[in-house]
Amino acid sequence: MDEIYHMEEHFEPEALESLKESYRKIIEALGEDVSREGLLKTPERVAKAMAFMTHGYSVDPREIILSAKFQEDYKHMVLVKDIDLYSLCEHHLLPFYGKAHVAYIPNRYITGLSKIARVVDSFARRLQVQERLTVQIRDCIQEALDPLGVAVVIEASHMCMQIRGVQRLNSTTTTSAFTGVFLSQSKTREEFIHLIGSHLK
Ligand SMILES: [Zn+2]
Repeated sequence: MDEIYHMEEHFEPEALESLKESYRKIIEALGEDVSREGLLKTPERVAKAMAFMTHGYSVDPREIILSAKFQEDYKHMVLVKDIDLYSLCEHHLLPFYGKAHVAYIPNRYITGLSKIARVVDSFARRLQVQERLTVQIRDCIQEALDPLGVAVVIEASHMCMQIRGVQRLNSTTTTSAFTGVFLSQSKTREEFIHLIGSHLK
């Protein structure tokens, strides 16, 4: 939880003020009365929420991994499964959320398991599309650790689809991105897919 407060403090006061002013205008444009009690503090609350939901811009995901990069001879799959993911669709500014599953096969170097989750979070907390998010996580780990391969699968529900009835309420979008042995060895890829229990073929 500490990190949350840290992120909010980290946000530039001027940017926060500008967001607040903009949200006040949006509420007015909706025909609402921003001075009524229930809405009085809404622009500030929404500005802070938006700042938090996009705090990934102030984080360098590569640095997160490099800060905990250790030499190790382990050469089997390292899998971090079911990482909670919350992001914002850049087309509608509405949340998409779900799970990320990330695996890599070390090549002399490993990183802390919590760092993988933080890399996912720092890319997710931006304006995103699920496809790019998947590839950015993959590339970051590949570049920072130079492993034998990286696999990323994201399963997410998009509110922009759900509220317009484009998708059935429970349907999810699955994206995947692989490098190295996950691409060249179907057995390794299949093992990963089996381990995460995905419906992905
Ligand atoms: Zn959308």
